[in-house]
Amino acid sequence: MTDTLPIARSVRELRTYVARWRNQNLTVGFAPTMGALHDGHLDLIRALKGRCDRTIASIFVNPKQFAAHEDLDRYPRDEAGDAAKLASAGCDLLYAPPREVMYPDGHSTSVSVAGVSEPLEGEARPHFFGGVATVVTKLLLQCLPDVAAFGEKDYQQLLVVKRMVRDLDMPVEIMGVPTTREADGLAMSSRNAYLSPEERIVAARLNVILREAVEQLESGANIMTTLVKIERQIFKAGFSEIDYVAIRGEDDFLPIASPIVRRPARLLVAVRAGETRLIDNMAVGAMRP
Ligand code: AMP
Repeated sequence: MTDTLPIARSVRELRTYVARWRNQNLTVGFAPTMGALHDGHLDLIRALKGRCDRTIASIFVNPKQFAAHEDLDRYPRDEAGDAAKLASAGCDLLYAPPREVMYPDGHSTSVSVAGVSEPLEGEARPHFFGGVATVVTKLLLQCLPDVAAFGEKDYQQLLVVKRMVRDLDMPVEIMGVPTTREADGLAMSSRNAYLSPEERIVAARLNVILREAVEQLESGANIMTTLVKIERQIFKAGFSEIDYVAIRGEDDFLPIASPIVRRPARLLVAVRAGETRLIDNMAVGAMRP
């Protein structure tokens, strides 16, 4: 594999590549990202390579999913480094459209997904899922892949995209890819680069707290009691703020009404270490008999 990767900057260029592959009866996989790539992003490419003949990654730091006070301007950017990583993972094409390709003057259509996008991240970041749904719709229509990969790291986002693709009859299969973690369990994220050395140590505690909680829930611990305990442990570990600690149904994302977990669920958290917002989640199996 060479370490240079072709880059498409316009919809026309992107579609030329895809059309060429389609003419050769090759299937196409697609992984949208905002760049500053780490192994979690590359695992999306690796998962797609197991399913498709050709893979495309996009890099676009989508202004529509950042609020004015958020980190759009300082979001880490390294296109050359990202392209080299993608090439070494065996990706076939990078799609890196400039802002005016995605949102030309006069752009005025947005996509919103009701229900699953409303709680948790939707409450903490009200602009977020509208921006995600709009840009993912555009990217999927621009590329029209057979399969698109999204990380379970952003679990609610994965469900929002699945709902949207179903509701709008987009002819794309959405594949969820398990969260890739650092050796100490911290979920990989481009935003981990913001953490100070002290905050990085605190951040790693989240994985331990969540793993213990999952074990207890699967052994029949009371949900409310466990959530309160997690919150206490999060503050004790040195996190500065909690946006939410919640348990939701694995597929419907509805609150779990029973006192213990009786069906497959997800434990989800959003916290801050210093100023840096971190999210994570883990699967909770139904209580073992
Ligand atoms: P982002 O660049 O943060 O917008 O993420 C782009 C895609 O990579 C999304 O589908 C994310 O869910 C996925 N992703 C980010 N971090 C991870 C990770 N640690 N493990 C698996 N997928 C990830």
